[in-house]
Amino acid sequence: MIAQHFAVDGGQRTTRMSKELLSVGTLSAPHGDKRYGVNEFLVEGQPYRLPMWLINGVSEGPTLVVTAGVHAAEYASIAAALELGRSLDPGSLSGRVIVVPVLDMPAFTARSIYVCPLDGKNPNRVFPGNPDGSASEQIADWVFRNVMSQATHYVDLHGGDLIEALVPFTIFFRTGDKRVDEASLEMARVFGIHFLVCSETPGSTFCAASRAGIPSILTEAGGQGIWTTEDVHCHTNGLDRLMRHLKMIPGNAPESVPCTLLERFLWLRSEHEAFWYPAVAVNDRVKAGQNLGVIKDYEGHVLQTAISPADGIVLFIVSSLAINRGDPLLAVGA
Ligand SMILES: [Zn+2]
Repeated sequence: MIAQHFAVDGGQRTTRMSKELLSVGTLSAPHGDKRYGVNEFLVEGQPYRLPMWLINGVSEGPTLVVTAGVHAAEYASIAAALELGRSLDPGSLSGRVIVVPVLDMPAFTARSIYVCPLDGKNPNRVFPGNPDGSASEQIADWVFRNVMSQATHYVDLHGGDLIEALVPFTIFFRTGDKRVDEASLEMARVFGIHFLVCSETPGSTFCAASRAGIPSILTEAGGQGIWTTEDVHCHTNGLDRLMRHLKMIPGNAPESVPCTLLERFLWLRSEHEAFWYPAVAVNDRVKAGQNLGVIKDYEGHVLQTAISPADGIVLFIVSSLAINRGDPLLAVGA
């Protein structure tokens, strides 16, 4: 279902009436009510179960869609989405919130790094999906059409994967549509994480949603399979700030937080299947040409040196000694 966007069109603000049911697939929540449930649909001919909360507020307002578990071992983000779904009170909500806490359940169960075990694809490279594609593409297609398309604002929660350390950052994408781009940047600033990265990742959730006219951000906090209170709070605090900013929940407008906008997101990758020795830590300032780490063979011969392509900040590092050809090593925001 494609809902109208809460948007300024020709000077007129349009929104769906809050008295309507909030529905996704076979689930619905009446006005002023909240539902947890599981939508079931076919993926490669097999039933796929997708848990979610529908929270339908008591008065009109934006529709916020929050997803987590697109990468299902990024636990701080999943814990934050669960907390939001469990705690949000429809009685004090203006607008609607849909929370999908674990988008890729097969990957969550398998504790899979990067990819969906059903097809070996990275779900965050296949959006907006394809109904005739492989499992990840079919899941993305269903979620994009049924969930994300209802959003006036979209947040996808991530973090470092099981083998990644990172400093928190928020990513957004400039589509060229001024209304969407300004709103996405505003969401990124309001969320309250210090580092903002403007980047296009083809097939990612937030880029696909932005291209569809929905202001969107992707937030990163936590990693290495650990979900500290601080990392979970980074996501939940950001969501709370965003909902106060959008006047969806009571409370003062969030105080502005100083942020650094990084216009380039530069990934370095391994050319070998060998052993990875990082020479820097996340949040380090690095210089163009600096040695950021080396890949060695069994005997200790250096096979590859990771050289910083620019002056910038190390945003994430793969912390695994084992490295495969084509794997990310780290990323510099510049
Ligand atoms: Zn992720």
